[in-house]
Amino acid sequence: MKFILSCLIAVIFIFTFSITAQEQIKQSTNYCIVIHGGAGSSIDNLPDSLKNAYRHELSAALTKGENILKAGGTSLDAVEAAVRYMEDSPLFNAGKGAVLNEDGVAEMDAAIMNGKDLSCGAVGAVHFTKNPISLARAVMEKTQHVLLVGAGADKFSKETGLEQKSAKYFIVPKSYEDWLKSKSKRGTVGAVALDKSGNLAAATSTGGLAGKMSGRVGDAPLINCGTYANNKTCAVSCTGIGEKFIRNTIAFRVSAQMEYSNKPLKESVDYLLSSVLTAGDGGIIAVDKDGNYVMNYNTQNMFRGVANSSGKFETFP
Ligand code: ASP
Repeated sequence: MKFILSCLIAVIFIFTFSITAQEQIKQSTNYCIVIHGGAGSSIDNLPDSLKNAYRHELSAALTKGENILKAGGTSLDAVEAAVRYMEDSPLFNAGKGAVLNEDGVAEMDAAIMNGKDLSCGAVGAVHFTKNPISLARAVMEKTQHVLLVGAGADKFSKETGLEQKSAKYFIVPKSYEDWLKSKSKRGTVGAVALDKSGNLAAATSTGGLAGKMSGRVGDAPLINCGTYANNKTCAVSCTGIGEKFIRNTIAFRVSAQMEYSNKPLKESVDYLLSSVLTAGDGGIIAVDKDGNYVMNYNTQNMFRGVANSSGKFETFP
């Protein structure tokens, strides 16, 4: 009897141990990063050379973020690196290449959030910071605040020692600017990631809407609207008509549906895109704590890409 009991205990112990071990293995190899380069009109009429340029830039941004995750770095570093790359590329509406407001000036917004402890930082209507996403991170890490805007944010950026550029730097050549205005009024960039330690992070950066009023701030730097991350649920970055995302608290609602109604990530995102927002409003990228990801939109196109520890590496278009 004693012998049978000991065997039983041993079997239970081995079984329990092997499950724990498997989970740990899964955790230590699981990472995922998803990026977007803005949602908007169809790209069918774009020349192949431009389509290829987008593919190249999306792949390069994805690789920047993935390399950090592969090496065991944090999701926060990964999303910042991917977004910085796209800010430096003139193809996207963020950093260099940001669309211009009614005064012909690039006025940029950005936000970053750490799902581990809900710490976050954001900037609105900044003019001279080469990489607004890094200024958002500085707000998160070096101040007591969440959101700095306008002249105060520009001043803080200089004091922090971040690279400054003249207003001209952000404006890409006229021909290209025309193209941006007519063909792509929206082209914000964003990234969400899960790292090997199970931490989620989200980042979004934009020039906003072309021709917007001076002083207008969109959804991207508003935590809960265009950007959100929470280790309990998911990390989210949005793109589209900011006012719609603000009114409907879209980014937080992706998480809230998961937390309070147990909805899977995809269902949660699809519900918001189809039943809360209307066709043409924009797109959402998100990754959950298990590495499931979504990159959906209700516009004609969204530049996007995903890379994860299962060997997936895809960009669209
Ligand atoms: N959501 C951004 C804004 O309204 C624009 C975009 O996503 O392209 O500022």
